[in-house]
Amino acid sequence: MMRKKIIAGNWKMNKTPKEATEFCKLMKDKVASSEVDVVFCVPFVDLYPALEELKGAGIGVGAENMHFEDSGAYTGEISPLMLKEMGVSYVVLGHSERRQYFNETNDMVNKKVKKALEVGITPIMCCGETLEQREAGITIEWIRIQIKCGLAGLTAEEVSKVVIAYEPIWAIGTGKTATSEQAQEVCKAVRQVVGEVYGETTAQQVRIQYGGSVNGKNAAELFAMPDIDGGLVGGASLKEEFQEIVHYQK
Ligand code: PEP
Repeated sequence: MMRKKIIAGNWKMNKTPKEATEFCKLMKDKVASSEVDVVFCVPFVDLYPALEELKGAGIGVGAENMHFEDSGAYTGEISPLMLKEMGVSYVVLGHSERRQYFNETNDMVNKKVKKALEVGITPIMCCGETLEQREAGITIEWIRIQIKCGLAGLTAEEVSKVVIAYEPIWAIGTGKTATSEQAQEVCKAVRQVVGEVYGETTAQQVRIQYGGSVNGKNAAELFAMPDIDGGLVGGASLKEEFQEIVHYQK
């Protein structure tokens, strides 16, 4: 099974709409690739400028969050239908920063993943352990729970369309990358739990990214691991360096 690699930038709360346009203009030719799927996940107000600037460039545009209802009395939230109508094709769900600062639970993440699939947006569902959990030796158990809960109630066919991002929290924004062996071990465990619940065919189809201080220098080694199908990239996706990650094979 050849899974196409997917390399997604997560801008987090960075770049104004003007800056988004400028950066997309600068980067669109540099990160164009037929070998890997390239995605820019951007703040809500940057979606329109990014979509406009990246038209026809073969680069996917994603949101960094969304609500799980179509519409209603949820002041300040953004609906999946709004994203879909704009042409957004991906959405990051359950990023550790959302779990940590905005109290997102596995149950909420599960509702959002279901909804994204229902409206036809590809969810990039994040999981990951804290340093404390790693040191306590409970990483794999924790990840298995996050995956089982996050994907609960989906069909195998739906799960095959989900992108899962394994992001150890201690490696996010810290410059401390997991070793490729550490990242592979957990990504393999993610594939295994998907296989246990949804079957081996689905497990072989689902794409699993590694995230956590990926940069131009370490991308090639990480992405060469058998169960790592690309990366979710924070800091380095804000800079020209992102092209080195996309073209990691060169
Ligand atoms: C992220 O935001 O998902 C991330 C992995 O950040 P960084 O690459 O900066 O560690």
